[in-house]
Amino acid sequence: MLKIDLHTHSNHSDGTDTPTELMHQAQKAGLDIIALTDHDVTSGWEEAAQAVPLTQVGLVRGTEISCAWHGITVHLLSYLQNPENVALKQAHEHTIRSRQGRAKEMVTRLGEDYPLTWEDVLQQAPKTKLDGPIGRPHIADALVAKGCFPTRSDCFETVLHPRSRYYVKHWSLDPIEAVELVRAAGGVPVIAHPRARMRQKLLPTKVILEMAKHGLAGLEVHHRDNSHADREFLIEIADAYQLLITGSSDYHGTGKSNRLGENLTKPSVFEEIAQQGELEVLLP
Ligand code: AMP
Ligand code: FE
Ligand code: FE
Ligand code: ZN
Repeated sequence: MLKIDLHTHSNHSDGTDTPTELMHQAQKAGLDIIALTDHDVTSGWEEAAQAVPLTQVGLVRGTEISCAWHGITVHLLSYLQNPENVALKQAHEHTIRSRQGRAKEMVTRLGEDYPLTWEDVLQQAPKTKLDGPIGRPHIADALVAKGCFPTRSDCFETVLHPRSRYYVKHWSLDPIEAVELVRAAGGVPVIAHPRARMRQKLLPTKVILEMAKHGLAGLEVHHRDNSHADREFLIEIADAYQLLITGSSDYHGTGKSNRLGENLTKPSVFEEIAQQGELEVLLP
């Protein structure tokens, strides 16, 4: 059976592998197909695509779109969308600009209590530098490099937590609007880790149902951040609303402990996504 992992990150967002390294890691992990889903950017696609023949790993080109519903963060995976779609591109650009301002404000606040400067954070920024999706992981890496905390996770549990006084929000798309934008761009929208409780408040089920009415394709049920009970609950929703059930690692290289292939998507579900998407899956 094909081994398919539909959620990974490179250093074009907050992963630590280059797209080429990511493809080689996928080969080493025995995967047949992966999706590269960097936060709010498609800039890693080309490099990953070039590694397909060499690694014999198939590539689904995608993104993970930062959305929020009344202050609750929602991550929407988009697969196989046209990257030149104007509305989606504008939304990504708006998000990235807002992420910049927000990160600067967080660094200003943190700088009052820690020896941290904007230059330190820029050194950890995504490969795409100033036009990349800068986020809390990069601030965490700068704090770790400065010796303020031992790991990224220690930062997330303390100074970078949404309840911390250093935390600042950034502009995000509404998730229902995002589903429509992704579909209009020929993409296939799937909610990432829909029940990641430890991060913050849960998205109300009524919003998931509303997203389903507007074209949502699936739910990422098999993800380490969804508990066993939550997975059962999500499977019930998926069955009731004819949503696809995916499973993925959300690999970030050394940035998180998630291992490539720790959760997989069934080939039949992958086929359905491939059929719905505007772009081709790049096969070796
Ligand atoms: P942001 O979008 O800037 O608010 O940052 C959120 C990102 O931080 C998520 O996409 C995760 O990849 C990452 N993240 C969240 N919690 C942790 C953690 N405990 N350790 C490492 N990375 C994390
Ligand atoms: Fe991330
Ligand atoms: Fe996510
Ligand atoms: Zn992710």
